[in-house]
Amino acid sequence: MPISLYNGLTRRLEPFVPLDPQRVTMYVCGPTVYNFVHIGNARPPVVFDVLARLLRRHYPQVVYARNITDVDDKINAAAQQQGVPITTITDRFAQAFRDDMAGLGVAPPDIEPHATAHIGEIVAMVEQLLASGHAYAAEGHVLFDVGSYPAYGELSGRDTEELIAGARVDVAPYKKSPGDFVLWKPSTPELPGWDSPWGRGRPGWHIECSAMSAAHLGETIDIHAGGIDLQFPHHENEIAQSTCAHGGKAFARYWLHNGMLTFGGRKMSKSLGNVLLVHELLQQHPAEALRLMLLRGHYRQPLDWSEDAIQQAVNTLDGWYRVLRDLDGIDLPEGALPVPPAVEAALCDDLNTPQALAELSQLADAARQAGTAAAKAELLGGGALLGLLQQAPEAWFQRGGETIDAVHIEGLLQQRRDARAARDFARADAIRAELDALGIVIEDSAQGTRWSVK
Ligand SMILES: [Zn+2]
Repeated sequence: MPISLYNGLTRRLEPFVPLDPQRVTMYVCGPTVYNFVHIGNARPPVVFDVLARLLRRHYPQVVYARNITDVDDKINAAAQQQGVPITTITDRFAQAFRDDMAGLGVAPPDIEPHATAHIGEIVAMVEQLLASGHAYAAEGHVLFDVGSYPAYGELSGRDTEELIAGARVDVAPYKKSPGDFVLWKPSTPELPGWDSPWGRGRPGWHIECSAMSAAHLGETIDIHAGGIDLQFPHHENEIAQSTCAHGGKAFARYWLHNGMLTFGGRKMSKSLGNVLLVHELLQQHPAEALRLMLLRGHYRQPLDWSEDAIQQAVNTLDGWYRVLRDLDGIDLPEGALPVPPAVEAALCDDLNTPQALAELSQLADAARQAGTAAAKAELLGGGALLGLLQQAPEAWFQRGGETIDAVHIEGLLQQRRDARAARDFARADAIRAELDALGIVIEDSAQGTRWSVK
């Protein structure tokens, strides 16, 4: 089944054709590790984890790199404030990020390059840009000369006027043109720094991704992805640096950008004070429901986060796991889980996760009605492609370490149905109160009674 992806570079849906089908390469911009990440930061790792799973099904080797930015002014500020070396901050929050992603069911990337481990490659690339006339040194800085690369602005579709207006906020006297950006900057003695031909200093942010991508994946890669907020200037600058350092060779052939997460309709950001940290959400809600939430919308669209939507995700998973629990005694067929064509087709269509989830619901209905091993395997196989439904049903129904005895609850619900049928409403209400005391919410509908954990 062919994969189609919306390519941000051409602004078209295109068939995905890797440069080398034996080795597909993907680079996703990772976190700057100075704090816990918020749920908006988790959207790219989750959606591109689904893409990596899909690609791995289609190609014998996928090399997926997601970097760690471990040198940055925000990191320096946090280290100075706490009076510790930057590695104390970066080690702690890189591990917190890995833990959060593992919580959300994100498989680790194949390579997790750290900027500070690639200073040699970064310096070499800056030297290459200087030698080819695309960069200049001034006052201990090295800057990329945007005017030397006529295609600049191609990815974001901005024209030069806009770019200059956008850059004007921080015009430094050593810049030839306001749009020029920093490749290398000087460090004062109290700041982290490395010796370089331009004195002791540290890399700019953009150059690290260009250098690490080339070091691990090659000069031309198949897919580069990240949040739409990185499209300009970060990705635009990565293209300029890499293309110019590699003699005009294309940098990334497909550019994928996910939409932003909003909370109550507003962008989730630290400055607005409406951030929800992943590690706190993981303490409050079942992790799998958070993952499902992040896959409910199409990755290119904005996604609004709300408590109601989390509850809906929990209810959806309750329904699917109830089907699996009912089929607990049925052994799966021998061999690997099947991949349901409808789920795969949805993902092959520009990673249409909402459609894939709708197909999964259908598979759950089919499994409930058929009650067969084959139908159960289809449901589990579809879930596996999305990184869902991988735990035992009892584990799902056990929340926060407290075991919910599902059989007991189903028994109480049956007693309540019997009481209502016998028009013994006092008894029915008493059972409802008992369920409430157990932390169980019940909801009556035409389809019957559903229950979930509060
Ligand atoms: Zn990057």
